Order: sequence, then C-alpha cells, then structure tokens
Amino acid sequence: MSAEGAEVTASREDTGRTESGQPAPRRIRLTPDGGARNRYDPAMPALPDFRVNEIFLSVQGEGVHVGERTVFVRFYGCPLRCVWCDQPEALAHTGVGRFETMTAEAVRDRVASFPAVRRICLTGGEPVIAPKASLAWLLEDRRRAGWWSSVETSGSRVVEELFGAIDFWTVAPKGRSASTFDGDPVAAQLPTLRRYAALPPSRRQFKFVLQGTEDVEDAVRVLDALSYQGDVVIQPEHGAGDGRRIFEAWPWDRYPDARLIPQTHKQSGLR
Ligand code: SF4
Repeated sequence: MSAEGAEVTASREDTGRTESGQPAPRRIRLTPDGGARNRYDPAMPALPDFRVNEIFLSVQGEGVHVGERTVFVRFYGCPLRCVWCDQPEALAHTGVGRFETMTAEAVRDRVASFPAVRRICLTGGEPVIAPKASLAWLLEDRRRAGWWSSVETSGSRVVEELFGAIDFWTVAPKGRSASTFDGDPVAAQLPTLRRYAALPPSRRQFKFVLQGTEDVEDAVRVLDALSYQGDVVIQPEHGAGDGRRIFEAWPWDRYPDARLIPQTHKQSGLR
C-alpha cells in the first residue's frame, strides 16, 4: 500500500479513453483510514456498481444497537452457504436470489431519501465483498452528512480498507448447526476472526446465532481462543433456536455479560 492508501482499479467499458483510444481503467484512491479521495470531484471516474437486494427503512432488530431507526442496504451475494440463512433472496445458489444493479450514487440517493434518519447498516448477503471503492465512497458521503454506519458480516473475509470507513462492526461467526464449513467451524473461522477481535471493543460486537448446545460450545471455543473482550450477543436462530435451552446452556459464570437478544424486529412485525 502506498502512503496515500490502496489504489483500486475499476475496469468498465464505459470509462474514459487512453491516447490509443482504448477504454481506460478508472482509479479510485482509498485513504489509509478507508475514505475515498476525490469523492466530490465532478471529474471523478465512475465507481463499480453494486448488486443490491433491497434498501429499506426499519429499526435495528439485533444486537446491542437494537431499536435504532436505520436505513438498511442489503447487498446480494455471499461466499458462504449456511443452511438456516434467513435471507435466501440475497444469495445466488438458492434459486430465489434477486438483485438490482445500482450505481453508488443511486444507492446514496435512495438511502438519503428517507427522512430524519442518520444511521446506515450494510447487510446481506455479505456486504464486505461488495466493491470496496464504492463502499468507501458511500460511507464517506454519509459520514460527511453526519451519519453513523454499521455493517453485519460473517467475519469470514477481511478487507482492511473498510475498517476505517465503517463505524461499528457486527461479526457473526457460525457454529455447527449452520453446516457452513467442512470440518471444525471454529478452526475454519479463527484466522479472520482474530482480525475482527483486534478492533477496539467500542467498535464491534460478536453475535452468535445459536440453535442449541453444540452452537453454544462453538461460540465459547471462539471466545476462549480469541481471549475475547467486549460485547457478546447470543441470538436464538430464527427457525429452530430454543431461547430457554440456550439460556440454560450458556456459561454465565465465564461470560456473564453476554446478552441474549432475539430478532426483535420480527416480533414487531418489521423487516
Ligand atoms: S454468512 Fe450470513 S448471509 Fe451468508 S449464507 Fe450465512 S447466514 Fe446467509
């Protein structure tokens, strides 16, 4: 990375031309803290488009920011295949996936169209695999407008340039019930989870979606392996998760400050 940050190249047929007449790649420079330079330069080249499943206004129904009125941008696509994923319409392999291709500017305009709201949450699918230059631009635009941003990620991918661009991270490791990984899910996820655990505790929570006692065991193994400090949320899986069983199985003596929070937006009839 240069002193000015990572340079991201977006190749598009509709970009400018080189002297030889060939389409020129457009370059967006990300600053080390995840910002996007030249963001308001009218000559700024086009950013890569997003694949968006939906954009909607609701309240944050999960985790430590529950109840906060928020605009959600749900991105399409995820490299994982959790068997109980509750967003099949945001996934490619389910047969019901759907997306709209949108420019970063169009997403910003839609997000900004909701009145009297100052919070944006990137969700999915897996939002951190969306074009990072476009994400950085969108988030910097909202930051300049006084907005607070958050993201919901599986924690299976690390995109360093985004750590400075997003205010708060929800990281959701998967246990055995999700059947996401071949072999031990804890061993599979620890390498990337270590990076997320290194974020300041005020800027992240680990949220475990749990079906039963095996998932509780996996969550505790993750926390132990990371010597985790900070907010822990345990959330009964929306289909088969048994809150009482999870409550009784959780090692409260070792992790007394964990919070058991169900998906409250669904209880309220919201998305
Ligand atoms: S990581 Fe999240 S979005 Fe991706 S398949 Fe699993 S539950 Fe669904």
